[in-house]
Amino acid sequence: MAILPIRRLPDPVLREKAKRVPAVDASIRRLIDDMIESMYAASGVGLAAPQIGVSLRVIVIGMPEEEPFALINPEIVKVTGERPVDEGCLSVPGYRAEVTRHRVAIARGLTPEGKEVRIKARDDLLAQALEHEIDHINGILYIDHLPSLDVLVKVERAEPRAPRERTG
Ligand SMILES: [Zn+2]
Repeated sequence: MAILPIRRLPDPVLREKAKRVPAVDASIRRLIDDMIESMYAASGVGLAAPQIGVSLRVIVIGMPEEEPFALINPEIVKVTGERPVDEGCLSVPGYRAEVTRHRVAIARGLTPEGKEVRIKARDDLLAQALEHEIDHINGILYIDHLPSLDVLVKVERAEPRAPRERTG
């Protein structure tokens, strides 16, 4: 496993629509291991492959106190309701903002074993992270959801190991 540097704006890989993974194989599982390690090293709760420079549709999520998991070729299949959330991004360090996300997010994708799964999240950090990370593989950043960049709040450098500090 390897800790890889997190790509930051204006790195163009963050703006690409990532490619679908054609087959879940050992190289994809290796990528997932590196992503999980890199996510934890950066104190994130999620990471998308483009954030380590790999333009593939793979995300990992590691909720505090829970086992991390990966989704390959994930899609949001349904969202309902709206709620304001505080959000940041490892690729846009030093800022946070209030973003409107959905209350319920249902996603589907493949596990590292190639099994199709569906994940439903409601009113929690997981719902927010699913939307945030799936945005990443479509080249979308949370700042794109803001009415203006003027609403960004500058934050102090995050303490190491502050798990809720950044969304991913
Ligand atoms: Zn992010």
